[in-house]
Amino acid sequence: MTFKNMGIIAPLLNAIQKTGYQEPTEIQSRAVPLILKGHDIIACAQTGTGKTAAFALPILQLLHTAKDGRSHPRALVIVPTRELAVQVSESLSSFANALPLRHLAIFGGVSQQQQVAKLKEGVDLIVATPGRLLDLHAQGHLNISKVACLVLDEADNMLDMGFLHDIKKIMSALPKKRQTLLFSATMPQGIRKLTKEMMQHPKEIAV
Ligand code: AMP
Repeated sequence: MTFKNMGIIAPLLNAIQKTGYQEPTEIQSRAVPLILKGHDIIACAQTGTGKTAAFALPILQLLHTAKDGRSHPRALVIVPTRELAVQVSESLSSFANALPLRHLAIFGGVSQQQQVAKLKEGVDLIVATPGRLLDLHAQGHLNISKVACLVLDEADNMLDMGFLHDIKKIMSALPKKRQTLLFSATMPQGIRKLTKEMMQHPKEIAV
């Protein structure tokens, strides 16, 4: 499998080449084609497997090909920690900038002013921790009613950190008709239950 025959578009292929990736990792080979087709995904993958690009590349491609010129976010990546929000956002940058799509990391522990200002300018994709996302949403700074793709990254860590209630609250504000991708290093019962509630005929991948 190559990035090209997985159906990745030229501008992203260029960005991948610049990043120095020679060939897709296993999770990428298996997840990218399914995500591009619109499937829901349950992926059991550790950090270090290339899981970030496995969801980032197809999501950015889908956003790009369905670009509607409006400024509401259409994809949302939920992560457990501020560190991961920054890391995922940085991994996304070179791919998103190649298209060009706007993305924003939203997390607590810093002033919300800058995040709110960026939201006003318009973003296509948000990477966020649950608490600050809900804060901004409750204050009316964030419209997530047009999100067509939701990613839960490190889902097992989010449950361990007590974010289940927040995640359910976020999901209730999202459109029912959407693509949902869940990435987790382990698959405890709590995650299984969540996937049953939030996904439609998900495809499962374990690497
Ligand atoms: P992740 O599992 O997403 O945290 O990625 C782990 C590391 O692998 C990151 O430093 C990525 O930049 C790198 N990486 C992701 N995909 C590839 C690839 N196809 N080839 C080489 N390195 C990659």
